Amino acid sequence: MRVTADRERCVGSGMCALTASEVFDQDDEEGRVLVLAPVLSAGDEDAARDAADNCPAAAITVEP
Ligand code: SF4
Repeated sequence: MRVTADRERCVGSGMCALTASEVFDQDDEEGRVLVLAPVLSAGDEDAARDAADNCPAAAITVEP
């Protein structure tokens, strides 16, 4: 599975980095999302889906 994030939509809440710290981080300047692992390992899939579901800006997409 792959994950992408729309940095234009991101409001920098940091929920994704808290939920899936292996997959997401935030940049130092604006706090917008950075995708660390665009190709998800099996162990990160559930956390990445949770992050997508809980992103307040609907900025995260997880797809097969
Ligand atoms: S949870 Fe959404 S809005 Fe918050 S930092 Fe991550 S991508 Fe941005």
